Amino acid sequence: MQLFAPSLAFVDLETTGGSALRDRITEVGIVRVDADGDAKLPRISEWSTLIDPEVSIPPAITALTGITNAMVRSAPPFSAVAADIAARLDGAIFIAHNARFDHSFLKHAFSRIGRPFSARALCTVRLSRRLYPGVHGHNLDAVVARHNIAIVDRHRALDDARAIWAFVAALYREWPPDIIASAVKRVLRTPSLPPQLPEDALRALPQTSGVYLFYGDNPLPLYIGKSLDIRDRVSAHFSSDWMSETDLRLSQEIRRIEFETTAGELGALLREATLVKALMPAHNRLLRRKEEAGVLTLSDDCMPQFVAATALEPPDLAGSYGPFSSRRSAREQLRVLASEHALCWRRLRLERRGEGPCFQRQLYRCAGACVGVESAASHDARLRAALRSYAIPRWPYSGPALLRECTNGGDRVDVHVLQDWCWLGTARDESELADIIEASRRPAFDIDVLRLLLRRQHAGKLAFHAVTPRANAAVTNGEDRFDPSASVYPRAHVRGRWPSLA
Ligand SMILES: [Zn+2]
Repeated sequence: MQLFAPSLAFVDLETTGGSALRDRITEVGIVRVDADGDAKLPRISEWSTLIDPEVSIPPAITALTGITNAMVRSAPPFSAVAADIAARLDGAIFIAHNARFDHSFLKHAFSRIGRPFSARALCTVRLSRRLYPGVHGHNLDAVVARHNIAIVDRHRALDDARAIWAFVAALYREWPPDIIASAVKRVLRTPSLPPQLPEDALRALPQTSGVYLFYGDNPLPLYIGKSLDIRDRVSAHFSSDWMSETDLRLSQEIRRIEFETTAGELGALLREATLVKALMPAHNRLLRRKEEAGVLTLSDDCMPQFVAATALEPPDLAGSYGPFSSRRSAREQLRVLASEHALCWRRLRLERRGEGPCFQRQLYRCAGACVGVESAASHDARLRAALRSYAIPRWPYSGPALLRECTNGGDRVDVHVLQDWCWLGTARDESELADIIEASRRPAFDIDVLRLLLRRQHAGKLAFHAVTPRANAAVTNGEDRFDPSASVYPRAHVRGRWPSLA
């Protein structure tokens, strides 16, 4: 039996009530089905546990499920089984009958213990509706009866999860696999849009890269996002089976959607950042997040120092390390490097100045720079070597360079002007390009832009067009400085530099 995905997790929860926000989980049942190489039958593992909801179970619920307060009193709390649950769901399609219910209970339970949770959720109610549109009733009792599924303890988590798996297995006796696969695809992909949006709102969106703006009743947007596929991304906001708090709020407030296309990923990123900065939508946290980003530099005595994006001078980027999304994430990376390379926590400023062995030394994880076993010079050389993969390379031009992005059809070209791994502007034609270069604004640091450029450079996929004269010579002799006031430079030079489509 070739299932529609290599790993499926059939999930059922029992709870203290119907609200994911107020009520709690009392039992989890998971049937995990994994394709087993070339073997005919998949590997199946079943797991279930009662959970102490830490609140009392209403009598009506106990009457339905048979789960009593006494039964859960000695059960572990959710926090104690969360890792187990996450591991059992990892990499699998999350399948449940009324998946929105189970998914949102788990999402809230995970978020109460500070863990993110999201899964690709497939709802078997919707799957049943799609494959049997004419029949009446798609709740679990109706489905179980229709497909002659034997069920022992209806309303206990593992038995219900088994029943959902039995339903999917039954489909394979009734339909060819490709019909099931395409029905699954449709159910996974058909989002239910907020009802106040016009029915064709989604179809009106292009499947190309760009930015989209959600509007409510006010003239300013609620939210701005970017994507390589605008339609796909917008639908993901509202796909009913898993919604973040922000998406829930957006789905209540949204009244219309606008969009702008871009030639590619970089253009979308830059446009999003610019619009968010200008319009400050209520539900975007992008700006603050970007301001928390930064890089590490090494001081004269080789101590790592975090430089925040707001304090960064773009020309200083080369030779620094990163980028990191926050000071905290930089410290975390340093800690990882320290343990991988037996570096000293005190020299890395991961702990306060003091006397005697550093914390890592006490655990035999520091080579001993803090106690004089290793010389500072040797430690610092090892630190530089450890940081090498984070090094931001030298900007290879003496001034700005152009990066051309064009759509697959070539009908749209954006030319991004970049300098020192930072953005100066984006032009759609030669005159805009000349304006940007003549204005010679301060380059704007953006962590996502830097990451994208470095990723492409790393993959050998960064094809800049140099604007400055003899750019390559500049790299070798270091003398050819970009002079924005040079009279021969801008328009005359830019003309003919507009990267051709060839
Ligand atoms: Zn040490």
